[in-house]
Amino acid sequence: MPPSSRMGRRRSRPAGIMMARVRARSFDVVVIGSGFGGAVCACRAAEAGRRVVVLERGRRMTPARYTAMATGSQPIMHGRGGAGLVERAPVRGLFAIVGRAVGGTSHLYTAVTVPPRSEIFTSAWPSGLTEQSLAPCLERVAAMIAPRPIEAEPPRTRILADAGREMGAACTRLPLAMTRRQDGPPAGDAGSGAAGLRAGLVEWLRGGPSYRKRTLDQTYLAQAERRGAILLDSHEVIAIEPRTCGYEVTAIESCGAVPQRRRFTAPRVVLAAGTLGTVRLLLHCRERFGTLSRLSDRLGHGFYTNGDSGGALLTLRDDLVDDDGPPVTAWLDLWAPDRLFLMETGFAPLGAPCSDRVGARRRRLWTFAVMGFDQTPGVLRLDGDGELACSMPPRAGGFSGARRERMRDLARAIGARLLAPPELLAGHLPVTVHPLGGVALADSPRAGVASPSGELFGYPGLYVADGSLLPTPTGVAPSMTIAALAEHVAAHVVAP
Ligand SMILES: Cc1cc2nc3c(=O)[nH]c(=O)nc-3n(C[C@H](O)[C@H](O)[C@H](O)COP(=O)(O)OP(=O)(O)OC[C@H]3O[C@@H](n4cnc5c(N)ncnc54)[C@H](O)[C@@H]3O)c2cc1C
Repeated sequence: MPPSSRMGRRRSRPAGIMMARVRARSFDVVVIGSGFGGAVCACRAAEAGRRVVVLERGRRMTPARYTAMATGSQPIMHGRGGAGLVERAPVRGLFAIVGRAVGGTSHLYTAVTVPPRSEIFTSAWPSGLTEQSLAPCLERVAAMIAPRPIEAEPPRTRILADAGREMGAACTRLPLAMTRRQDGPPAGDAGSGAAGLRAGLVEWLRGGPSYRKRTLDQTYLAQAERRGAILLDSHEVIAIEPRTCGYEVTAIESCGAVPQRRRFTAPRVVLAAGTLGTVRLLLHCRERFGTLSRLSDRLGHGFYTNGDSGGALLTLRDDLVDDDGPPVTAWLDLWAPDRLFLMETGFAPLGAPCSDRVGARRRRLWTFAVMGFDQTPGVLRLDGDGELACSMPPRAGGFSGARRERMRDLARAIGARLLAPPELLAGHLPVTVHPLGGVALADSPRAGVASPSGELFGYPGLYVADGSLLPTPTGVAPSMTIAALAEHVAAHVVAP
């Protein structure tokens, strides 16, 4: 951005930087955020012998914390009720759900772990980054996360496959980062009403009654800690500032009753606060504090929702019976005609009002996630009060039309009624659980914000390694692509 267009911008340096200086702790690498991008980079930097600290705003998830959420003594949703695991991201004009915990959104995800399609590597990607160059990174991710389709085939998977045949779409059983529980499903049911819904949701988040997810705190982060990385939870980073030694990172620690400011320095910093967290922090540093004033004008541009939508089918089919499978088992692959996928996400949790009886028959709500290669980019920017705001172009025809039509086809093939898509439930806001882009990788700062190594243009040693780097949507569930990109970035972070 030319200097003239910066005139008049507010420069309120963060209070932590202005106040009396407490000594900063110094490391070789500071990693901000512990989701897919942060976990991979922390692990690889620690394995390379670097002194690593990971700063994560959320808390560690333990069996006791899950139980407290299931019984209602701790909130699931983050907000006024306290520190929760699930957050509706504070972004105007967007309904986005993200995680806040050690392990990031892996505590919310349905563990579908699939590589990107080759067709996404369009000219929007920088020249050096191709499907071939990412292949070894994808292999490293697969070796660590070990995704496999579950062995059993529940009735819902078979019914989806039958519907797919009628629609001319292949039904793919999805590789999941899940393990069957050794101790079997819990005895008794989850109860009814709000308590049942809460307990059912916690069970769903963990992998269903008979499965457990392999979240990042069991894989990459566990390995990072074994190799000496220090992982500090309840540390929310509020600012990054260049220093002669590299960068100074200021965080608010909220472990005790009174929040404390903490400072960390390192020659290399990896920003992996998730797409929305990373874009917000960088916009604050550029526009409010002026500490990273040379960041590319493209910051916040090229934001994608990965075509996310969904729907719920209300059905009375007798052959749709309860199963003990994980939340997701399969999707219908409509990539060839429409660049999209219809992914079944199981029945609404026990206790939901629609999972009831009509006469002798059971009425069920079967939920679906729709995602795809929707190349309609939006823009993320800061409003006058410093809040993140999103503007997306109106979605008429094209991808949106195909998405609606295919959900209708599916309802017909299954013999079910299609209920309102999530946009309606979210008050017509764009909806996403896969926010991507905004700090796009590119060959030059005119085209994007980060160089092909993930380093921010103009800021040597300051890297980004999360979903915000993607110059296009993935179409498929994106965690494996993000983790593979982070493997690629990590190799540059540890380079001498
Ligand atoms: C319900 C749901 C289901 C999903 N299912 C799948 C699936 O099956 N397969 C799939 O591939 N993808 C799935 N996803 C998407 C996937 O989880 C995300 O794409 C992925 O986690 C993004 O990785 P990330 O590293 O970019 O960010 P995240 O995993 O979101 O990690 C970012 C971390 O940074 C922390 N953070 C943010 N701001 C700060 C700050 N200022 N200071 C310190 N820490 C900060 C956050 O608390 C978080 O822990 C799902 C998402 C949701 C919500």
